[in-house]
Amino acid sequence: MSRFLIDRFQGMEGYQLGEQPKNREYIKLNANESPFPPSPLVLASVTGELQRAQRLYPDPACTEIRREVARLYGLPMEKIFCDAGSDVILGYAIQAFGGRGCPVCFPDVTYNFYKVCCRTFGVPFHEVPLREDFQLAVEDYRGRRGCVFIPNPNAPTGLTLTLEQIERLLAQDRDRLVLIDEAYVDYGNESCIPLTVQYDNLLVVHTLSKAYSLAGARVGFAVGSEAVIKDLNALKDSFNPDSISTLSHAAGAAALRDQAYMRRCVGAVMETRDWLKEELRALGFTLTDSHTSFLLASPKGISAPEYAKKLRERGILIRYYPQPRIDGYVRISIGSREQMEHFLQATKEILAAL
Ligand SMILES: *Cc1c(COP(=O)(O)O)cnc(C)c1O
Repeated sequence: MSRFLIDRFQGMEGYQLGEQPKNREYIKLNANESPFPPSPLVLASVTGELQRAQRLYPDPACTEIRREVARLYGLPMEKIFCDAGSDVILGYAIQAFGGRGCPVCFPDVTYNFYKVCCRTFGVPFHEVPLREDFQLAVEDYRGRRGCVFIPNPNAPTGLTLTLEQIERLLAQDRDRLVLIDEAYVDYGNESCIPLTVQYDNLLVVHTLSKAYSLAGARVGFAVGSEAVIKDLNALKDSFNPDSISTLSHAAGAAALRDQAYMRRCVGAVMETRDWLKEELRALGFTLTDSHTSFLLASPKGISAPEYAKKLRERGILIRYYPQPRIDGYVRISIGSREQMEHFLQATKEILAAL
C-alpha cells in the first residue's frame, strides 16, 4: 500500500476470483464458466464489427443489446440498463441506492462480491442468516429498511426462491429497493423480470457470462423501473459511459439473438449436473438441490480443502470457501460431460487412496 492511499481504501482485499493459472492445462471447474463456445452468430457478428467501426467510440446506450432484451421480455427499452458485466451493475447499484442511512441487506451465505463492494464504497451492510438448511426465508427481511440484494438462485447454495416468495418480499415495503441477481436463472428457473411491471422497487440483474458463454466479453444488463434505470444511467454517464466495447456489444447482441443455442448449452449442463449429483450422492457426498451451473457438495471422509488440493494435483480446479457454515463444502462448476467424467474418476481415486 502506498502512503498516498486514502483511509477508506486501506485494507481493501478485493473479491477472490476463481484462479486462472497458466502454468499447465487444468480442467477449470472453479469459476462457473460455460464449457461451450459462444453461439456461432457471435463469431460472425464480432468479425463484421471488427472490420467496421473500431475507429469510432462505441454506442454508450448499448442500443442493440437493449433492443434484444426488450424483445425477449416484451418490455420498453427505457426499463433496461446495460453495462460491462453484472458486477459493474451491482457496484453502481450499491453506490446509487446503498448508503441511505440503513445497511444494505443480503444473506450471510451468498455471492461475496456484495460485501466486498459495500466495503470498497463505504456502504454499511447487514448479513441476514440463511436458515439451518441454507433456505432463505423472506420473513427474515421484514422491517429491514435498507435495500436488499439476493441472487436467485442463490450462490453458492444453488437454492431458489419462488416468484411468489419474491413478490412477498417486494410487497413487504414498497419504499425499499430489492435487487434480484439472476446470474443463474437460465438453468431451468423462472425470471422475476415480469414483476418489474407491477413493482417499481424491483431491479433484476442478468449476466451473459454464464449461460451465454461470454464471461470474457463482459456484458450484463438490468431491468427495473424507468426511474431506477435513469439513476443507473446517470452514474454510468458520470463515470464510464463507454464501458462496453463495440466488439463486446456485437457479441452480446448476437448471443441474445440465438436463444435456441443458449437453451441447448444450458440443457446439456443441467443434464450433466443431475447425473453428477447422483454419482456423488452414491459416494456419500452431501449436496444441496442446485438449480444452477454448479454443485455445492460436502465430500465424505475428507475435508473440503484437502479434497480441493488433491484434485488440483490431478489438474482439476474447483472452489473452496474458508468461511463459516460452508467450509465443509466445495463448489464444482459443471463442465462438459467428458470433463465431469474425468472429475468423477479423479474423485473416486482420491477417496480410494484415503
Ligand atoms: C458470475 C456472477 C456474477 C458476475 O457476473 P459478471 O457479469 O461476469 O460480472 C454476478 N452475480 C452472481 C451471483 C454470479 O455468480
